Amino acid sequence: METRQYIELEEKYGAHNYKPLDVVLSRGQGVWVWDVEGKKYLDCLASYSAVNQGHCHPKIMQTMIEQCQKLTLTSRAFRNDQLGLLYEELCKLTNSHKVLPMNSGAEAVETVIKAVRKWAYKVKGVPKDQAEIIACENNFHGRTITLVGFSTEELYREGFGPFTPGFNIIPFGDAEALESAITPNTAGFLVEPVQGEAGIIIPPDGYLRKVKSICEKNQVVLILDEIQTGLGRTGKLLAEQHEGIEADISLIGKALSGGFYPVSAVLSNTEVLGVLRPGEHGSTFGGNPLACAVARTALRVLIEEGMIDNSAAMGAYFLEELKKVRSPLIKEVRGRGLMIGVELFPEAGGARGYCEKLMGLGILCKETHDHIIRFAPPLIITKEEIDWALERIGKVLAKH
Ligand SMILES: *Cc1c(COP(=O)(O)O)cnc(C)c1O
Repeated sequence: METRQYIELEEKYGAHNYKPLDVVLSRGQGVWVWDVEGKKYLDCLASYSAVNQGHCHPKIMQTMIEQCQKLTLTSRAFRNDQLGLLYEELCKLTNSHKVLPMNSGAEAVETVIKAVRKWAYKVKGVPKDQAEIIACENNFHGRTITLVGFSTEELYREGFGPFTPGFNIIPFGDAEALESAITPNTAGFLVEPVQGEAGIIIPPDGYLRKVKSICEKNQVVLILDEIQTGLGRTGKLLAEQHEGIEADISLIGKALSGGFYPVSAVLSNTEVLGVLRPGEHGSTFGGNPLACAVARTALRVLIEEGMIDNSAAMGAYFLEELKKVRSPLIKEVRGRGLMIGVELFPEAGGARGYCEKLMGLGILCKETHDHIIRFAPPLIITKEEIDWALERIGKVLAKH
């Protein structure tokens, strides 16, 4: 079949809740992917940071195959021989006390909202059904009704109400706004260390440190959504390490499986997860042996193969070189590690067209909002590959 035919099938039978670039991929290896016509592309999106370890990492693939041949799903009605090992490895790696495994990122966020509300009633003494959670403008935490209900992006919410109550919104990057928004009923503060979907928005230096101390002072649980920033993306295992803090709760997902399988987790440093009793929360697939085995190897290769340091070094290089691109279209280049945004002026006519031009030259990236191009390749990218990309990015952005 040809590219056009695959696209026609998707358009005819699929819901149109995405507007993908018209490239039909059928193979991937490392930082490279190939379309059905055999054309090769450098993947600068890495599936929204779910394939930090690179496409089809051989060791993760081996684990996937071997575990598939042994045992895939037990449900949590029974125990399995992978779960405890994943817990221990995750806790040691992230200095956490407790783990709750789920599948998608959105489920991890939903889980933490439940746990933090319960904690507020049982431990903090908030009156029944009065718990509040503070979140930020331009947040992205997933697509469930509750999560889009406190999104500030009209497109994500419009037509999906009524929504879950109990959320307050404050500006991102403004610690004073947090301090003034806290009430005796505030249970938690949910925030991304760097806002990814909003367009790689980096808060002022010291923000997370301030937020941490405000939360501590007011007995508010600090929840960092590291589903995108975590696992090496920003050049550290967790983005909180850039400010030397430890959140009460960190959420990870995406790259936790290296892109093989949906695996997410709530990592808790406090007694928060301890409030959950048997039967109060669960998931048929959460914590299954296939997910756990894959996640264990995905974490191991991230560390053993130096991907986090490579993210820091290559991210710094990529950012510096992008800043040197002379183009009247570019408003700002910003990033942390290999999480980089190039914001174009509105006069450039939208980032989408430039993503399409880059695709023509063999680079896959995706616009976020209208004017920002995100560059977030797998963390194994080399200097030569970045140079290859830069040559093409320069061509596309220098034109016009
Ligand atoms: C992707 C993402 C989510 C949602 O994860 P899903 O697996 O798509 O449900 C939540 N928070 C952040 C910061 C994300 O980037």
